Amino acid sequence: MSAPLLEVNDLKKHFQLGGGLFRKRAFVYAVDGVSFTIARGETLALVGESGCGKSTVGRAILRLFDITAGQVVLDGRRIDDLPAGTLRPLRRRVQVVFQDPFSSLNPRMRVRDILAEPIRNFGLANSARDLDARIAALMDKVRLPRDAIDRWPHEFSGGQRQRIGIARALAAEPDLIVCDEAVSALDVSVKAQIVNLLQDIQQELGLALLFISHDLAIVEHMTHRVAVMYLGKIVEVAPKRAIFAAPRHPYTKALLSAVPVPEPGAARERIILKGDVPSPITPPKGCRFHTRCPYAFDRCRSEEPALRPTETGHLAACHLHDLPDAQNPMVAM
Ligand code: SF4
Repeated sequence: MSAPLLEVNDLKKHFQLGGGLFRKRAFVYAVDGVSFTIARGETLALVGESGCGKSTVGRAILRLFDITAGQVVLDGRRIDDLPAGTLRPLRRRVQVVFQDPFSSLNPRMRVRDILAEPIRNFGLANSARDLDARIAALMDKVRLPRDAIDRWPHEFSGGQRQRIGIARALAAEPDLIVCDEAVSALDVSVKAQIVNLLQDIQQELGLALLFISHDLAIVEHMTHRVAVMYLGKIVEVAPKRAIFAAPRHPYTKALLSAVPVPEPGAARERIILKGDVPSPITPPKGCRFHTRCPYAFDRCRSEEPALRPTETGHLAACHLHDLPDAQNPMVAM
């Protein structure tokens, strides 16, 4: 098996809060020991409720800030410790599509200039003619008319702006695109179009995608594997089909219970989690999910479960998998 394109090892990002001479320093444990890999040409969906730390993971990979601990390795080379002055090659290879297509494009730049900027910055065009050809090809790739390149961002719909955002990411010829809630702000029908577009582009170019989303219904249509985050930790990782057919973590099961089933007449038992997500400033001891888990038992309140393989090959962080199958509600489903 070839080495992964991206390896994230025990990544931590703790944001310091206030503090002072006589006050104890406090931290937001936004990401607290996250590990995963992404292969070339693979989509990994990172899912979880708002505030679980998934966007912080994406921003750490993009080197938008320094991490607290751990490693981020791109193509065999650590990128988390690169000095600020040496980030240029990384910026080309890892691009981002943000959630909000309205604020992510400079309103004072025409589409032509928005797309030309990364091509020029990374020295990818040999000539003015090559630059024009690249811009035209990008418009084709995201299925926008070539004659729209002289228009301004405000002249486009939300879906069209997101296509421009995708074209801008592609302009740098990246290996990996971080899609941070890239379709969340769009109408349902437009969402589906953008997801299809991303899938087509990914297959054509062999790109890797980290698709960050709170929307499992969207993820079901476009990813190869799913990693589920809860309060700064990954609690389950599995191939898409496996996780949708039989989740092995109670939190994943609850999230999936809210996703509509495509077959007419079929339904998943809806699980309503009690309480709110605890604060990432004071995460619960033991399993972080124990305050809301319907299956929590004594061990969960004192011992943190490790993410490890279950009997079906999923990785799951749950003590239930140490119980005999007959006593494990995540097996006897
Ligand atoms: Fe629930 Fe315990 Fe498993 Fe955590 S370890 S998910 S609290 S059963």
